[in-house]
Amino acid sequence: MPPSAAGPSAYLDNNATTPVAEEVLVAMLPWFRDEPGNPSSLHASGERANAALAAARTKVARLFGAGRPAEVTFTSGATEATNLAIHAVLQADPRRRVVTSAVEHPATSECLGALDLDLVTVGVDGAGGLLLDDALAAIDEQTALCTLILANNETGRLLEPRALTALAARCREVGARLHLDAVQAAGKLPLELAAWGADLASLSAHKLHGPKGVGALWVREGCLGEVAPLLRGGPQERGRRAGTENLPGIVGFGAAAELACRRCADPSELRELRDRLEAGILAAVPDAVVAAAGAPRVAGTSCIEFHGIDGEAALLMLSHLGVEVSTGSACGSSHHAPSHVLLAMGRSEAEAASSLRLSLSHETSAEEVDHCLATLPGVISALRSLAPR
Ligand code: PLP
Repeated sequence: MPPSAAGPSAYLDNNATTPVAEEVLVAMLPWFRDEPGNPSSLHASGERANAALAAARTKVARLFGAGRPAEVTFTSGATEATNLAIHAVLQADPRRRVVTSAVEHPATSECLGALDLDLVTVGVDGAGGLLLDDALAAIDEQTALCTLILANNETGRLLEPRALTALAARCREVGARLHLDAVQAAGKLPLELAAWGADLASLSAHKLHGPKGVGALWVREGCLGEVAPLLRGGPQERGRRAGTENLPGIVGFGAAAELACRRCADPSELRELRDRLEAGILAAVPDAVVAAAGAPRVAGTSCIEFHGIDGEAALLMLSHLGVEVSTGSACGSSHHAPSHVLLAMGRSEAEAASSLRLSLSHETSAEEVDHCLATLPGVISALRSLAPR
């Protein structure tokens, strides 16, 4: 990110959203004006639009890992993809037990909370790891769906492949489906959904340098008889999601998926940058605690508790100094409630409220990390001196 006219800056809120990559923007531009076709039209413009839609579908299927293009349904984002997944499974299966975790994104937890279900919410340990035995025990003969977050948006904590394959095997035993919110994992590690035994997964373009307002649901072929649509109308997306496709957005998602496939093969640079940021903060700020430190985490995410301060006050001061971070999830940060993820990990309300999430992307520069390291320790120290414990 270039320094602003006002001085150096650091955008470290990439789990909220990422800037659109140059090659993504270039791929999208013709589809706003030069190419006006609707993919459903039969004339030449329509045919070209349809071909662009098919090409993007192939690229996004590749990002899902071994996904076939026909298994991908484009949506308005991961929130819609997850709502569609939950709706489609519960339409296809009369059973009402759904197993989920205490650290899900609201796209999952709010959707489930609004339904009349036998909902089992499994906890996590102090490092954000799913209590696997509890989850396996909760998946019983009455279970239609197990839906879990693959990489946590607040802490970066990963659901490990070993846990995933055990959960998938248990789901298969009882005929339940396994859905993964793969939003924060995509582009950071290769997704091997079929190999892990997942049945459905959600993605969002704007978390991997694609445009906002476009996402996708992957449904393994044969896993549901029909995918009942949430939006009814025309026959787009093979009847799974009605409405004229957001073609510029979908083309952009295709380009971003290609880029993410290349980048996720080697996230070492991103991990090194995140580790340097964390090490610098831990060295400069006494009593800073990294959530889920030492546990498997995606490269790029760092959630740090700065005991004795209010995370929101730190966020606002940092923003004033050109450093943009968040407290908890972006959706939660306007609610002024401590992070449900950190509370589930056993932190007190005060500890959870003292946390900041710093999230880097493949486009974060060393200069941005340097600016954060030059700024953040002073902000924490100033806040601590104002409000001594
Ligand atoms: N799931 C996770 C883990 C997320 O981080 C987000 C976005 O914050 C979503 C789902 C929702 O994605 P979208 O903004 O595409 O609806």
